[in-house]
Amino acid sequence: MTDTTSKVIYMDNNATTRIAPEVLEAMMPYLTDLYGNPSSMHSFGGRVAPAIHAARQAIADLIGAEPEEIVFTSSGTESDSTAILSALQTYPEKNHVVTTRVEHPAVKNLCDNLDIFTGRKYHITRLHVNGDGTLDLQKYQDSLTDETAIVSAMWANNETGVIFPVEEMAQMANDRGILFHTDAVQAVGKIPIDLSSSAINFLSISGHKLHAPKGVGVLYIRKGTPFVPFLNGGHQEHGRRGGTENVASIVGLGKACQLAAAAMTEENTRVRALRDKLETGLLTTIPKALLNGHKELRLPNTANISFEYVEGEAILLHMNQHNICASSGSACTSGSLEPSHVLRAMGVPFTAAHGSIRYSLSIYNSEEEIDYVLATMPDIIAKLRAMSPFWEENS
Ligand code: PLP
Repeated sequence: MTDTTSKVIYMDNNATTRIAPEVLEAMMPYLTDLYGNPSSMHSFGGRVAPAIHAARQAIADLIGAEPEEIVFTSSGTESDSTAILSALQTYPEKNHVVTTRVEHPAVKNLCDNLDIFTGRKYHITRLHVNGDGTLDLQKYQDSLTDETAIVSAMWANNETGVIFPVEEMAQMANDRGILFHTDAVQAVGKIPIDLSSSAINFLSISGHKLHAPKGVGVLYIRKGTPFVPFLNGGHQEHGRRGGTENVASIVGLGKACQLAAAAMTEENTRVRALRDKLETGLLTTIPKALLNGHKELRLPNTANISFEYVEGEAILLHMNQHNICASSGSACTSGSLEPSHVLRAMGVPFTAAHGSIRYSLSIYNSEEEIDYVLATMPDIIAKLRAMSPFWEENS
């Protein structure tokens, strides 16, 4: 039986994950004895190259890609920037980008500041989402024009877990001669992905979301997609990304992808069952608790729940006192508590958006942990509501 009172109950896996013990073990030789540079001519460096090759293959296998379509980067953020900026340089005559209102800041902030980064003027279409976080495909199709250089739409949302139909969207874009990028940072390793017959041109991965280390990512570039590198330098990655490889982390990511492939059924059954138990328990035992996001079209590990008339950050502080880690949908910016742009885009009422908590599970969570959280949350919410003037007015 797990001692849930003294250990951390980690339900913030969309923020980052623990490194799997098997991943650490696979990395260790490359942090100690095998420190050679894979580009070196001597055999000591040469001993490292096969490990990178194997990692590339493992990543390709997880997403149904070819090893040559995998380019290692430093992060999901770098992969996102590389894909979007590459497409804009490929089509200098086009001045339109399509994205959505719920993208991660890695895409959102780049698109918001494209004029500054490129020195050119771009027209950005930011697609609205429905109340359940899903996209209207007809409106998406109508947004594509002859001027569109690239579409960037996430595969799964980091706050709500809502999944977009990116394969269909990519086909619609390709049919119009438009490149398609998807930020799949939250999707890879959690849901099956097969790019073998997809029209997706670029796909971003981040190691630390799937039990590999922080500071390593991948940009998938479909064979035949025109590409302009973001980091120029050495000949690494066949000239597509300069810089000596982060060998140990690349090896770790390869191992993590093997583990994710093996655990995919577990993620989709056991983790989903834990998430559903947590979600149903919270929604039925706590009054005025609402689910944010589509009930079905969602990652199996994510539950985003609003507790009306209380503040998310206050809830998190109380959860923290019980050793429970999660995230809130509000962030303290410049002294004011702003509800998340994702929940605002979904039209979640102000009183609910402020009190939203994201629980994101992993294969390392147990049923005892779910029971502990279910036993703890009602008191936390009741205590905070007892202090909330809004709760008295509306209860
Ligand atoms: N995209 C999504 C959807 C994310 O959730 C994150 C991280 O939270 C990123 C991109 C950024 O990835 P990284 O931390 O590797 O830069």
